[in-house]
Amino acid sequence: MVQQQASGPREVRAARGTGLTTQGWQQEAALRMLMNNLDPEVAEHPSKLVVYGGTGKAARDWRSFDAMVKTLQGLKQDETMLVQSGRPVGVMQTHEWAPRVLIANSNLVGDWANWEEFRRLESLGLTMYGQMTAGSWIYIGTQGILQGTYETFAAVANKRFNGTLEGTITLTAGLGGMGGAQPLAVTMNGGVAICIDCDPSRISRRIEHRYLDVEAKDLSHALELATAARDKKQPLSIGVLGNAAELVPQLLAMDAPIDIVTDQTSAHDPLAYLPVGVAFDDMADYAAAKPAEFTQRARESMAAHVEAMVGFLDRGAEVFDYGNSIRGEAQLAGYDRAFAFPGFVPAYIRPLFCEGKGPFRWAALSGDPQDIHKTDKAVLDLFPENESLARWIKMAQEKVHFQGLPARICWLGYGERDKAGERFNDMVASGELSAPIVIGRDHLDCGSVASPYRETEAMLDGSDAIADWPLLNAMVNVASGASWVSIHHGGGVGIGRSIHAGQVTVADGTALAGEKIRRVLTNDPGMGVIRHVDAGYDRATEVAAERGVRVPMGEL
Ligand code: NAD
Repeated sequence: MVQQQASGPREVRAARGTGLTTQGWQQEAALRMLMNNLDPEVAEHPSKLVVYGGTGKAARDWRSFDAMVKTLQGLKQDETMLVQSGRPVGVMQTHEWAPRVLIANSNLVGDWANWEEFRRLESLGLTMYGQMTAGSWIYIGTQGILQGTYETFAAVANKRFNGTLEGTITLTAGLGGMGGAQPLAVTMNGGVAICIDCDPSRISRRIEHRYLDVEAKDLSHALELATAARDKKQPLSIGVLGNAAELVPQLLAMDAPIDIVTDQTSAHDPLAYLPVGVAFDDMADYAAAKPAEFTQRARESMAAHVEAMVGFLDRGAEVFDYGNSIRGEAQLAGYDRAFAFPGFVPAYIRPLFCEGKGPFRWAALSGDPQDIHKTDKAVLDLFPENESLARWIKMAQEKVHFQGLPARICWLGYGERDKAGERFNDMVASGELSAPIVIGRDHLDCGSVASPYRETEAMLDGSDAIADWPLLNAMVNVASGASWVSIHHGGGVGIGRSIHAGQVTVADGTALAGEKIRRVLTNDPGMGVIRHVDAGYDRATEVAAERGVRVPMGEL
């Protein structure tokens, strides 16, 4: 539903129900998910087309948005719309098995791949920052990251705290689109969290959505609340307003009893990190007026922030980078111990990637929460032996507030995702679900990203920066019948630091969709298995052998 107004900001919300506004469900799904990304309940700054992650956008500008809507409304079953950094640039005749949309966002040639050049091109209106699921239209709000964050904190608990965060205090910053999942993920694991953000609206939004429990008056109050809850072994999340580059060093100086430290401010983009000494209300104008000066000051502040994190590490805390590139930025500011603590992928997630596991997600195009509850049950029935999956689905049902179209996420691996997808398609076919289901994933997945500061940090064979894998991943998904496929640059960790691919496939209940789903949801996680076999991970080699993933070099 789009209120008519010529190519300017307006409120956007996806259509619901079974009535098509396009020529078919594949196109309808792309249109609804584009609009859903900009739903005010979903997007962080919808009037600017910004979905999450600093400046991650769904469309380049409002004219491009209007052109994409109009094109999708008329797109035929054998046509494909081409999107170049958020702007539709062509429609070509393809065939029924081909994706209805192909997207390339934010890509730059290597030597030009830096923020300065990107900003120059962006200011000329030639590109946009697509982040990961912002520009590929499969962002589902904070739940998307909640599950991954929950799994990460569970892994921290398993590694250091006997399987639970009960009786521990986690310190973090950033309560934005992604970071807002941290307080709930910590309390779901039984722990106490102190979460700093400089934007008061982020704190109140997370309280409103029940991701955050309370707001402290100031830092001492936050610490008082935290230690009291910790001593009673009660989970509690506490928001505190301020600049992390000031408050984290203050907590270190206070010798605060912090057990775990991480961060999810928008550090990947120095223009989205508030420097010390700048008022939050002046941030946007200052960043726009003097980007180079702002960047320098932001990096210096990040160095102070990271130095304090290293201080906590030296005192024995569990410290990790949560994928926002803050270590890289601090290093650029001259702090030489920035990489003293690891990224979360090598520390906790890589063993899951070896099994082709990653963030499988789906949304109900009907808009009916019942459809998601039925799919929840289907997933639990399919994998009865998976206890952590059952625990997650139960907690998600209780705690997750749907944003926009009802959606669900859970981590599934090779040999599991295709089963879930085919079951959903059967449920659409039988009428058990009231409308088709869109199945996608984050670009942060086992075989879809090259990102040396995050997903591919410290690969066993040193192949961290090899970016052939995400390109093969995108090509394999196109060849397998995905509904839309995207190749992006710079998501998560910033321009110059990652190349990644996404796919979304629609379960519309047809036999053709079933065939496509079986191939896509086998081959897509299969890329994760072969990527890790190639890098020398034994677990991936075992998984390939057990589950029949063909790896030619192993067949000689
Ligand atoms: P966001 O822009 O929505 O939120 C960032 C928050 O940081 C904002 O609320 C902002 O007010 C706050 N902030 C900025 N500077 C601050 C400072 N100096 N002190 C305190 N608060 C400050 O971004 P997001 O979507 O939440 O993403 C956060 C970061 O995490 C990004 O860098 C993103 O790329 C990264 N990320 C990580 C993962 C992962 O899996 N770990 C996934 C996606 C994104």
